[in-house]
Amino acid sequence: MAQESPGYELRCVANNHLNSERETTTYCTECGSVLRVIYENSSPDIQYPLKNIQPEPLKTGVSSLKELPRLSETYGVDLWAKLEFEHPTGCFKDRGSYIEVQKAMELGADAICLASTGNMAASVAAYASYFKIPCFVFVPEKTTDAKIAQATIYDANIIRIKGDFSACEALCRKFAKSGNYYLAGDYVFREEGQKSFSYELIEQQGNDFDYVFIPVGCGTNFGAIHKGFKELKAAGKINRIPHLVAIQPEQSSPVVEGIFKKEKIIKKQVNTMAQSVAASDPVDFEKVLIGIQDTDGQAFTVSENEILQSLKEMAVEEGHFTEPASSLPLAAVKNNLDQFTGKKCLLVLTGAGLKDTIVVAKHSLSSPVLSPSIEKVTNYINSGYIDMQKQSWGKSRDTFIPNLKMDADHEQIYNQYLESINKKGKTLSNKEIEVLQSLVFNEELDLEYPVEVADYKITMHKHGLVHATAKLILDGEKVTTEAKGVGPVDAILTAIKSETDNILNLEVKNHEVEILSPDTDSLVVVTLTLGEINTDHEWVSKAASPDTLEAAVQAFTKGLAIALKGTEA
Ligand SMILES: *Cc1c(COP(=O)(O)O)cnc(C)c1O
Ligand SMILES: [Zn+2]
Repeated sequence: MAQESPGYELRCVANNHLNSERETTTYCTECGSVLRVIYENSSPDIQYPLKNIQPEPLKTGVSSLKELPRLSETYGVDLWAKLEFEHPTGCFKDRGSYIEVQKAMELGADAICLASTGNMAASVAAYASYFKIPCFVFVPEKTTDAKIAQATIYDANIIRIKGDFSACEALCRKFAKSGNYYLAGDYVFREEGQKSFSYELIEQQGNDFDYVFIPVGCGTNFGAIHKGFKELKAAGKINRIPHLVAIQPEQSSPVVEGIFKKEKIIKKQVNTMAQSVAASDPVDFEKVLIGIQDTDGQAFTVSENEILQSLKEMAVEEGHFTEPASSLPLAAVKNNLDQFTGKKCLLVLTGAGLKDTIVVAKHSLSSPVLSPSIEKVTNYINSGYIDMQKQSWGKSRDTFIPNLKMDADHEQIYNQYLESINKKGKTLSNKEIEVLQSLVFNEELDLEYPVEVADYKITMHKHGLVHATAKLILDGEKVTTEAKGVGPVDAILTAIKSETDNILNLEVKNHEVEILSPDTDSLVVVTLTLGEINTDHEWVSKAASPDTLEAAVQAFTKGLAIALKGTEA
């Protein structure tokens, strides 16, 4: 059967080897390098590697190109943003998923499979479900259901694998070969979809940018944007390509480091709150390197604090709430103002803020619970707590936070904490002070403690149960109690409970320990969730100490007091 020429070839980036799309859509079969679609002819209209292209079914228009007037004014840079979070799944990856899924169908695949826990999974699942082709998503065992909720709603078949992400990737690759399945991800046809960014920008009259700032994980989007510009230039639609800027988080920067070394780096571990760019093995590194060399571009890293600052600033000043990865561009501009002042810069806002509300919750101090009275609300507003809350976001986490104007009762609790911490010879860092103040401010007042722990002793046996003895004060009477447990916290709480269960029988439903610094004398915050046996009543109680055990004991006795107050009410 005669094969009609499709009008393009698949060639590897490293050695220009010719590959067949029937054999591979991922890596070069000869040398393992990444692939690129090379068209026979240039065209002023976007070309796709498909026999038939259906109109984008889920999108109604292009993503907005918006001026950022306030940030421009503040920094003296002509700043613009392309709102790539406007795509149906809240992320630019939809551009690529649309083409990948159509290609899978053209190749006659029975299903699509991929390994991803994030935006890629949601995006591929969305287009697969629209085009009615089954989608298998391989995720590591620890992935929370919330994380894959978006893929789940699009009917993806979630395959949960014992092991980490690389185990999922390896298995997914095998799975793809085991049947007529199309392996989706950061591969050659995705780039063809994502390059539409550049075509769209030119249609929007955005052809005079000096710089385009792109957050980089695997580098696929950077490569795609560059490829789009190259094709437009070859077709005579533009006569110059903006300088492309790649940005990564400091502790997740194999691409940026590789740019300076001019060779691909694979990291053992990466660590950043910007999870969408946390790639230890950046598959499209070569494409980023080519893009930077070709456009006289640049590569920067930014710190976690800078990410938080920019995330906040973009939301508060311009109204765009993005996920942390999308804050990398603004952070890079701010760090290099000498270079970008007066330049026209485009920030690619890759993903929506609602993708990751946990990061916001994690970096905000929660608000205390107030009794329903105007006086309490007024006191709270005047207390300085709100200012502290605002300042504690990002940068000022490390700067000194002045003492709150606490009311006398809270101040007393705070001073008791300080006294017991000082007794242990510990000085608090600013961060520890901040956490402690927040904890005290959230503390319930007017608690009556049914039990006090006057003293306790723990005996540890190397291969046996831990033994705890405690002296309690119950109803003004001294009582000694003891118990065994699998660990010190278990032993001491069991000992105390043996005396308090007849007051209120509580079980520890959850026990969380937060260690605030890497130091061995770090302040430790213990949070206990206590449940009343045979009911569904639950209470949460927190306490802090440099000693984990002591924090647990305090949290329990306080929790008992809170629970008693709760059951009386
Ligand atoms: C995937 C993703 C990136 C990184 O894109 P790469 O193509 O992996 O470099 C950046 N931001 C968001 C929101 C993403 O989902
Ligand atoms: Zn090759």
